[in-house]
Amino acid sequence: MELEEHAEELASDLGVDKEEVKEDLDNLLSYSVPVDEAKQSLRRKYGDGAESSSDSVPTKHIEEIDTTDSNVSVTVRVLSVGKRSIQYNGEEHVIFEGEVADETGKISYTSWEDFGLEAGDTLTVGNAGVREWDDQPELNLGESTTVEREESTLEVPYDVGGDAALADLAPGDRGVNVEVRILDCESKTIDGRDGETEILSGELADETGKLPFTDWEPRPEVETGASVRIEDSFIREFRGVPSVNVSEFSTVTPLDRTVEVSETAPRYSIREAIDHGGLYDVELVGNVVAIRDGSGLIERCPECGRVTQNGECRSHGAVDGEDDLRTKAILDDGTGTVTVVLDEELTAEVYGGGLQEAMEHARDAMDREVVAESIADTVVGREYRVRGSLTVDDFGANLEATEFVEHAEDPAERANRLLSEVQS
Ligand SMILES: [Zn+2]
Repeated sequence: MELEEHAEELASDLGVDKEEVKEDLDNLLSYSVPVDEAKQSLRRKYGDGAESSSDSVPTKHIEEIDTTDSNVSVTVRVLSVGKRSIQYNGEEHVIFEGEVADETGKISYTSWEDFGLEAGDTLTVGNAGVREWDDQPELNLGESTTVEREESTLEVPYDVGGDAALADLAPGDRGVNVEVRILDCESKTIDGRDGETEILSGELADETGKLPFTDWEPRPEVETGASVRIEDSFIREFRGVPSVNVSEFSTVTPLDRTVEVSETAPRYSIREAIDHGGLYDVELVGNVVAIRDGSGLIERCPECGRVTQNGECRSHGAVDGEDDLRTKAILDDGTGTVTVVLDEELTAEVYGGGLQEAMEHARDAMDREVVAESIADTVVGREYRVRGSLTVDDFGANLEATEFVEHAEDPAERANRLLSEVQS
C-alpha cells in the first residue's frame, strides 16, 4: 500500500481531512516509524482508537491461537479463576489467572484488571494479548481488553470450576479447588518479602495421592488430621515436585466427612515417572544394577550436611566430618534408570546394622569401603519395590526413598510378566 492509500484509509476511518492525515503520516514515516505503528498512533491522535483497532483484531477459536498471534478476540467459557498477588516492577499487583475454553480447546489466561470473572461465565473477550509461556500461547487481559457477558451458555468439553484431584495437578495450575486431609502440618518462620513471617507447611492427601503444601496466611482450619476443602489455591514447583500453595485469597472450609487417603503410592514405570518430571510420592519396581560412589559409610560437613570428599566440603573447605550411612542404588526396570537414595535408617536395614556396627566393621577391616561393598553384595541383582519422592533435573533422576523392600512378585503376576516377555 502506498502512502496515498494509507492516508485515504485513515481519513475515511477517522472522518478527518485526508491531506492533514497524510502530512502527519509522512512526518512519522520520515522518522522511520513502521507504517502500522504510525497508523495506530494517528488513530489514537484523532481520537478513534478502540473501535477500528479492535476491528483489526481477528476473532479466533482457541485451537487456532498460536504464539505468533499478537492480539485476538474470543468467545469463551471461564473454567477457573485464581486470584494472586505478585510483585511487578517493584509494586504489588493483584492479578487473576486460570483457564478459559471453547468447543475447540482450552487456554491459560492472566488478567491484569479485575473484570469480575467467575468460573462458568460465558464471555466475549475483545482484544486480548497473546504471549508465549512455556512454549504455549496464553491470553493476557489488560487495559485495552473488553469483556462482555453472553446471555447463552457456551458448552465446552471440560470441567468448569477448578475442582481437581491431587494426582492431576501440575506446576502452573491456578484457581484450583481440592478436598484433602492434612496429614502433617507445622509452623515455620521464614524471611519473607516483608520481613519475618509465620507460615504453615506439611503434607496433604486425597484418594489419588499426596503433595506438600504451604499456607502463606496461617489459619486455624489447617491442622494435622483435618479434612478440608481448599478453594483458589495455586500449584508451584518446590524442590522438584508440585506443591499446593494456599494464599491470602484462598478459602479453607472444614468438611463434615473424613477424606479417604490412599495407603499406597501410584505405581509408574521408570520411563513414565521420569517423563512426568517430578512426583512427590511414587512407587517403582526394578532391579538394583549397581550402587554409586558415595554409598556406605560417609562423612558429612557439620556446617551444611553435604557429603565431604577426603575431608573437604565444597562450601566449607577442610572440616571435621560427621559419620553417616547412605546408599545410592541404581534401579533399572527395563524402561529407564533412577538413582534411589536411602537414608541412614533404610541403609541400616539393607546393611543389617547401624552406624556403630558400620564403624566397627570399617575399623576391623581398616577400610571404610567394606560397608558399601557389603551393601552392594546384598542389593545388587535383586528386585525391589521402592516408594518415595522423585525429582528430575539435568543431572538425572533421583528418588529419595521412604520405603525400600525386596519385591516378592506373586506367582500369577510373575507368570504374566514372563509370558509377555516371551510374546514380545
Ligand atoms: Zn559444608
